[in-house]
Amino acid sequence: MQFTVDHVIRFLERAAALIRDHSIELTELDALIGDADHGANLNRGFTAVLAKLDDLADEDIGTVLDATGRTLLSTVGGAAGPLYGTAFRRAGALLAGCRALEIADIVAALEAALQGVVERGKVRRGEKTMLDAIAPGVETFRDAVAQGVPLDEAARRALTAVEQGMRATIPMQATKGRAAFLGPRSIGHQDPGATSAYYIACAMVGDVERLMTRSQDVSSAR
Ligand code: ADP
Ligand code: MG
Repeated sequence: MQFTVDHVIRFLERAAALIRDHSIELTELDALIGDADHGANLNRGFTAVLAKLDDLADEDIGTVLDATGRTLLSTVGGAAGPLYGTAFRRAGALLAGCRALEIADIVAALEAALQGVVERGKVRRGEKTMLDAIAPGVETFRDAVAQGVPLDEAARRALTAVEQGMRATIPMQATKGRAAFLGPRSIGHQDPGATSAYYIACAMVGDVERLMTRSQDVSSAR
């Protein structure tokens, strides 16, 4: 199965919709351990991405992801803008000129995005950030694909790992970003960035599942 720029654009539309629908929740989480702007910041960024998608429909996948990263960098602000911006731009650079993705390309792009977050955030796992949701998801997906697990099942396992990673931030004490200023008082709250990462992962996996269902429908109709 190959993924085209249309799939990537649909993923971005779905991510924008999920971030919009959960914007208040994300801001409320940020109010508890930050400065109450994470949902509003990301919603502004993904709304700006949506506005550019029509002009990008004829571009290759790398260009679409790079433009997404640039837009997030210039519109989101805060810590999350540079982090998500770098993640999308790294994936875009890896897929420069690419018009169809194999599963191995998706694994490589996710790993590049993950590495972008690590380097830009100078962050490790366990510091109560978006990385605690993203890293287990990427690793679970990579390992499942390497074991020959079918794409939809690999994607489902990865999403479960992202969700567990998100919830695992609750008992952590933050040592990066604004929440670190709270010291032990950051314990007991779910990290807003890990939560937005979960919704973006939901958008990605939702597309895979719909696609697989549709291709099964097509083959059973034959
Ligand atoms: P700000 O904290 O500047 O207001 P946001 O509220 O948009 O930015 O984003 C906060 C989120 O950014 C946090 O919940 C955390 O997940 C993530 N974050 C902050 N600093 C880092 C970092 N150094 N590395 C990775 N993620 C980080
Ligand atoms: Mg904030």
